[in-house]
Amino acid sequence: MSTELCNFTLAQMRDGLKTKEFSASELAKAHLDEIERTNDHYNAFITITRDKAMEMAKDSDDRLARGEGKAIEGIPVGVKDLFCTKGTLTTAASHILEGFKPEYESTITQNIWNAGGVMLGKLNLDEFAMGSANITSYYGNVINPWKKSGSDANLVPGGSSGGSATAVAANLTPIALGTDTGGSIRQPASFCGIVGIKPTYGRCSRWGTIAFASSLDQAGPITRTVRDSAIMLSVMCGHDAKDSTSANLAVPDFEALLKADVKGKKIGIPKEYRPDGINADVLRVWDNGIKLLKEAGAEIIDISLPHTKYALATYYIVAPAECSSNLARYDGVRFGLRVGGDKSLTEMYELTRAAGFGAEVKRRIMIGTYVLSAGYYDAYYKKAQRIRFLIAEDFRKVFEKVDVILTPTTPSAAFGFDYKPSNPVEMYLNDVFTVPTSLAGLPAISIPAGLNKDGLPLGLQLIGKAFDEQEVLNMAYGLEKMIGFTTKPQKI
Ligand code: GLN
Repeated sequence: MSTELCNFTLAQMRDGLKTKEFSASELAKAHLDEIERTNDHYNAFITITRDKAMEMAKDSDDRLARGEGKAIEGIPVGVKDLFCTKGTLTTAASHILEGFKPEYESTITQNIWNAGGVMLGKLNLDEFAMGSANITSYYGNVINPWKKSGSDANLVPGGSSGGSATAVAANLTPIALGTDTGGSIRQPASFCGIVGIKPTYGRCSRWGTIAFASSLDQAGPITRTVRDSAIMLSVMCGHDAKDSTSANLAVPDFEALLKADVKGKKIGIPKEYRPDGINADVLRVWDNGIKLLKEAGAEIIDISLPHTKYALATYYIVAPAECSSNLARYDGVRFGLRVGGDKSLTEMYELTRAAGFGAEVKRRIMIGTYVLSAGYYDAYYKKAQRIRFLIAEDFRKVFEKVDVILTPTTPSAAFGFDYKPSNPVEMYLNDVFTVPTSLAGLPAISIPAGLNKDGLPLGLQLIGKAFDEQEVLNMAYGLEKMIGFTTKPQKI
């Protein structure tokens, strides 16, 4: 019975809790046992909060018994270790935050606890959410539960929310929180055969979430079904006076409004996402998605997003620029690690930052300070800001004609740890399909849509108009039904 409990979706768990088939305490225990059994292999969790989980689950059981259960009462949740959780170690997967226990709770996690969620622990990620493979964490690599057919080699889960994606795909939690700056929810969801949605910039509060690039960072759920993402989004989103970029808009009940009705919808297919040499499996899965939508009565419209080719370069100026500013606060004085406390202040800063940050984070800080420096600001940063505007304009114009845009999520399936890019830009190419949406601040979801020739999952991305998460979810819900993706990774 107990591992069976881990196979249910959020919606099924919610129903089972209501009909008293099982208790929140049983759910929490089943998941914690499974996490502890497998964490040496997957390394998905940096911190497992067993005592806290069991306490929260007991409170949920009490509320359920009194008929006071909230939206996700008693549901286990894994939290990307980028969200500050009061009194619980919060690391951003960086050495520099060693021992950091926040005095406050992020708005997103608080919203989830207020809705009855039960915290299982803190999930591994790329250091400060910078990466596409979860190989830059101070706490070690995360392993994808999927393997190529006939092979025993471990694969990366994608990044930066690699721990979140692995945990959901391996049934260690029904839902996990991720953040997406340039693709970090959608790309790992695609690599792990599950669902991940990045809402519109401003939908989710950024307060108490460790900042990477503030004009891009958005929280979102990683789940096994579109319905579960809809449930989670309603819980997570909402105006927050503590975040000046938080949108003051009503949050729909996304689940209640979920409709698989694609008939008559206009689906844009951007030609720029179909470059020469595109991976044959990625193309096949994409074409299959287009075919299914067409058969269901959607209108397929060829579109052009002409500035797409500049998106990656733009992102890798804007994101490092913002990160160099955001990460200036880690100086050995206020948070976490301090090295050379007996030395001069400048030496202490230097020693702490040299020891505390990994190579990728240092690279981004250096790029960021370079593009913001007096002599280069106009040539790089200002130009990137202008192109960012043009990219957003491309989308705005296209959305006068279409309801959603369908693209692949990633240019390839998950790769192995033996993959050694010849330069950092090669790794950055993982984000080529996800970054334009991030720059434009639009909502986008990835759903599992097929397998490549090696039996690995590939995702399709649906992009919507600003604050039209409902349409994105509805189209994804329709496509999810039509595709009927049921393959699961091997159990360990
Ligand atoms: N892979 C991208 C990067 O390395 C995106 C990361 C993210 O979305 N947090 O910046």
